[in-house]
Amino acid sequence: MTQQIYINGEYYAKDEAKISVYDHGLLYGDGVFEGMRIYGGKVFRLEQHLIRLWESALSIGLKIPIAPDQLSADVNDCVSRNGLEEGYIRLIVTRGAGALGLDPYKCSEPQVICIVDKITLYPDSLYQNGLELVTAATIRNHPAALSPRVKSLNYLNNIMAKMEGLKAGCVEALMLNHKGEVAECTGDNLFIVKNGHLRTPPVEAGILEGITRNAVLELAEKLGIQSSESAMTRHDIYTADECFLTGSAAEVIAAVKLDDRQIGDGKPGPITKQLNEAFRVLVRE
Ligand code: PMP
Repeated sequence: MTQQIYINGEYYAKDEAKISVYDHGLLYGDGVFEGMRIYGGKVFRLEQHLIRLWESALSIGLKIPIAPDQLSADVNDCVSRNGLEEGYIRLIVTRGAGALGLDPYKCSEPQVICIVDKITLYPDSLYQNGLELVTAATIRNHPAALSPRVKSLNYLNNIMAKMEGLKAGCVEALMLNHKGEVAECTGDNLFIVKNGHLRTPPVEAGILEGITRNAVLELAEKLGIQSSESAMTRHDIYTADECFLTGSAAEVIAAVKLDDRQIGDGKPGPITKQLNEAFRVLVRE
């Protein structure tokens, strides 16, 4: 089946799917997006992703030109047209084409784009053995400047940190906030386990409130694993029994080293494994 890309309610072949070079999404990273997963032909937590998309848009004063119900139906339609049982969805709303100046009010209609594609996860070996992290010198955006809760098209903050990670030989990097506390990774949220207690930074630490993060917190409750959302520093990770990351693309993956210090016994821990398995069941329910 050839790939069909959705732009404003119409479908285009990949080579034909185009938007203006004057679009402020390109010129200024002015827009918002979501990254979602398809499991067994169904979109995982589409409604929650749409709520976050709308909140991101509201936060930057961008009016999405389609009603939520319609966009939900359109995303599902795009998934079935592309015929992927397992895959990834990139849903984007740009500010639209404008002039060569910042003024977003000079932009025409926002562009709504939906791309359905295959997903490349981390290699299996990283799920088996866990990944290594390094702390990036680039801190997460100050929440009073641009809230990390906005999933905007400007990912430079995270990309700078990602480059630091990759240069250090790590596929993910830890980002601290302006207070030096643990925030999240460049494209994933972070959890630790200490004495059987699950802990993750609160939204106020300046993070994206991950859909996977919230699903894991719900699973923990169902499984009787105590959890809390509280500020933490790198000390808490260095001295944790287990550490893992969550994200739509990564799902649940163990982190076994930070800054070359081994976390726990250096292997994916039992609670990480339990939550990973529970998550894999949840996405297929
Ligand atoms: N933090 C950041 C900065 C992200 O980009 C992502 C991935 N979108 C996440 C966390 C994880 O969020 P989710 O579980 O909704 O994919």
